[in-house]
Amino acid sequence: MFVPSRSSLLETLVDRLADLPSIGRKSAQRLAYHILATPMEDVEALSRVLLEARRGVRPCTECGNHAETELCAVCSNARRDKAVVCVVERPADITAFERLGSYRGVYHVLGGVLSPLDGIGPGEINLANLFSRCDRGVTEIILALGTHAEGEATSSYIVQRLAGRTLRVTRLARGLPAGSDLEFVDEITMQRALEGRVDLRR
Ligand SMILES: [Zn+2]
Repeated sequence: MFVPSRSSLLETLVDRLADLPSIGRKSAQRLAYHILATPMEDVEALSRVLLEARRGVRPCTECGNHAETELCAVCSNARRDKAVVCVVERPADITAFERLGSYRGVYHVLGGVLSPLDGIGPGEINLANLFSRCDRGVTEIILALGTHAEGEATSSYIVQRLAGRTLRVTRLARGLPAGSDLEFVDEITMQRALEGRVDLRR
């Protein structure tokens, strides 16, 4: 008779944790043991906040950043300069700029970059909304898409699509580690990259 192999609750927990980014099998095991040794009310609080965050956070209708209401904290801040838009790949990249405390513009989150081999074309990322924002008083677009091949290709595509419009198009200065996730770049490097941004057309 066939007896299905049963995976224990502990194994299932380890499997789930190991599915998370940057968590290897060993770390997943360590986390699982830690959770099992944690008081029940703390584990309940953690599982509650996981569900609440996942259900309550949605994309900002203006920029695609994480938001709990229609607009994110940046877009709903009257003191931010809505004429300057920094284009990033993911919401996490925004933290790199917000840490500086000196950037007064707003953002646009693409939710990915162009990657034809993976079937990601202009329609698959948040580009249409970027171009329609450009019709509403934007004077500068800062491209901050990283220096990997897909980031470069996406920047080029945006520059092409903006041809003929009078707004300024810039990119962060060189000096960022190639292909780096912006969220892990230190503040001095970020500040220099932002201040030294270069015009992509004259
Ligand atoms: Zn927003």
